[in-house]
Amino acid sequence: MDAIVLATRNKGKIREFNILLEPFGLTVRSLDEFPEIGDIPETGETFVENAFIKARAVAEATGLVAVADDSGIEVDHLGGAPGVYSARFAGPECDDHANNEKLLAELKGVPDEKRTARYHCVMAAAAPNGAETYTEGAYEGRIAHEYKGDGGFGYDVIFLDTELGRHAAELSPDEKHARSHRGEAIRKLLDVWPDFWAKATA
Ligand code: IMP
Repeated sequence: MDAIVLATRNKGKIREFNILLEPFGLTVRSLDEFPEIGDIPETGETFVENAFIKARAVAEATGLVAVADDSGIEVDHLGGAPGVYSARFAGPECDDHANNEKLLAELKGVPDEKRTARYHCVMAAAAPNGAETYTEGAYEGRIAHEYKGDGGFGYDVIFLDTELGRHAAELSPDEKHARSHRGEAIRKLLDVWPDFWAKATA
């Protein structure tokens, strides 16, 4: 069976991708299997740039097709910030809680209709022979005033899914996958996969 590498050490993401790509006759390997590849600095200014920085670096280092994602949240009132800096919004060593507190502080006193935001996800695939493709997904909502839910991660506790009237952290993993930026980008990647794979292996 052919293998690809997913540019992550997250076991949950590896498991999910293994299930999704099995019908294509592919197994998905983790970056954990390639310890010689250290941290890849995300120096891009867009999600597309960062996803390709990771996918290309891993394809080059492993000689295998690599898939990488990059994601974050854009808040309209902050001109699209934190965007690609979502993971380190409150500083280089910060955690999810510090990021959420900073976002709530920056939106203090801002009324509901001006708290619109969306998560973005880009999935990029790169092959050693230069074949490339990428897909995007978005998840629209609003930054709430308070914390709710204990699922998800990152900003989910303060991200209100305005259509459902629930915070993303209140959704089950399946519910979130069906609605989220990452779910959408993954579904689109699977749609274009046969065409990409033909070019990657030509
Ligand atoms: P990445 O690992 O470089 O893609 O950074 C993603 C960052 O964006 C995470 O650390 C979170 O802060 C935020 N983020 C992306 N997707 C989600 C999500 O589904 N829920 C909550 N936060 C997210």
